[in-house]
Amino acid sequence: MGMRASWAVLDADDFYYSARQAKVSSEYAFWRICQVGTEPASEEDWTTVTAMLHRSTGMSHGTITRHLDALHTLDRLPRLKALVESTWLLDMTHLGYIDRTIIKAPAELREDAFLWAALDDDLIECFTPSRARQLLPGKRAIVDTVSNTIRSVEAAAAPDQKPEGGETSAGPTPCEDPASLMRTLPPPEDPFSPVLDVQDLAGGEIRFELIVDQATGIRISDAVSGVASGGKISQAKAMVSLLLGNVTATVTTLLYQASDIEHAPALHPTHGILTDRAAEVLAGMVTRTIDMAGAAEAVTHAYVPTFGIRCSIIGRDWVCRWPGCNRRAARCDADHRVNHAEGGPTTAGNMIMLCRHHHNRKTDEQIHYVLDPHTGDVYWLFKDGTWTVSEAVGPLTPKKKRWAQTYSQRRSRQYERAAAKAAAERFEAYQSKAANAPPARTSGSDPDPPPF
Ligand SMILES: [Zn+2]
Repeated sequence: MGMRASWAVLDADDFYYSARQAKVSSEYAFWRICQVGTEPASEEDWTTVTAMLHRSTGMSHGTITRHLDALHTLDRLPRLKALVESTWLLDMTHLGYIDRTIIKAPAELREDAFLWAALDDDLIECFTPSRARQLLPGKRAIVDTVSNTIRSVEAAAAPDQKPEGGETSAGPTPCEDPASLMRTLPPPEDPFSPVLDVQDLAGGEIRFELIVDQATGIRISDAVSGVASGGKISQAKAMVSLLLGNVTATVTTLLYQASDIEHAPALHPTHGILTDRAAEVLAGMVTRTIDMAGAAEAVTHAYVPTFGIRCSIIGRDWVCRWPGCNRRAARCDADHRVNHAEGGPTTAGNMIMLCRHHHNRKTDEQIHYVLDPHTGDVYWLFKDGTWTVSEAVGPLTPKKKRWAQTYSQRRSRQYERAAAKAAAERFEAYQSKAANAPPARTSGSDPDPPPF
């Protein structure tokens, strides 16, 4: 359209612009004042500090903690912080999404400067517009960005890194031969054992909590989704039917992975980026590979898209394209922009993913859209003549393909770091043994630490 790339929320001509700027900046300033007032508080003081702040502001302990944690996280992301303070693009809610996703990073990574630098880079990329009046990324896109960054800097712990007491079922072994000691340790790829917790509730109901590894969980959730959508029943009812053997399911699991990039991330359309282990397990079960470049161009005369065309649209859109909707595309309908009855072809270039609810709004013709078949951009045209553009965020978009390269580079760098760290630790352990120093790890049950 020949216009400068910009965010729709920062459009100074918009009716709500000034009010939004005032709200976001004053809310931010308020929490910065709270931050100054509560520092320096130790962990033990925190309950007292929030009690005082509650007295002065009426805010709850949980709200105070959440917002101040979000600012603390922002303080570790200098580029993002500068962006927030110079534009007010993001409010405290957005900062909260970022903070609460970063908390899920493995503990040993949370102080890693490389992770924080990578997060800062990826968030700046996420919050840099590429179109005019672009729609701000929603919760799902923000959470996905942070999760994907964390996974990109995670490296599998070297298998010989931590032979800890208590984890070894064989117990301490009075043995000096490293080869036989290794045999007493659990294998590095020990499958994650499922955990089931069954609880009788007061009302007579029974609660089941099942924890499984990611690959198993994805297969279960795909089976449940398949039965639910096939029988038009809830996910819960579908699961009950499956468990009781009232239905059988053919599980179809979609995985998106660039074939031309080494160690490319594998992504699942509802569970997001996979762990190395899950990617390996699921890759071993692949029965069919579809060329997505071909599927993007494919056309069918039928109203319902072929499996390949549907996979192509899901991989491009990733979520329902309606402004602000976060529903996963895999659970959405493919909508013909130009109706099939009016000659609109059944092809990715004429279709977008909309959830059932928003598909109905669209057919009511209260809002219109234009799809750019080359980029996947969707221009939403409102009744009052205003518009916004939503950029596609799926793994098949050019931006995400470039990110897959970054992912691959970070992974190899982290593997090198993990290997170097493991070697250094082995050397240290060897030295301390040579010097007859007391064991570095106090595992309690193991008086004789591993001899390497
Ligand atoms: Zn929707």
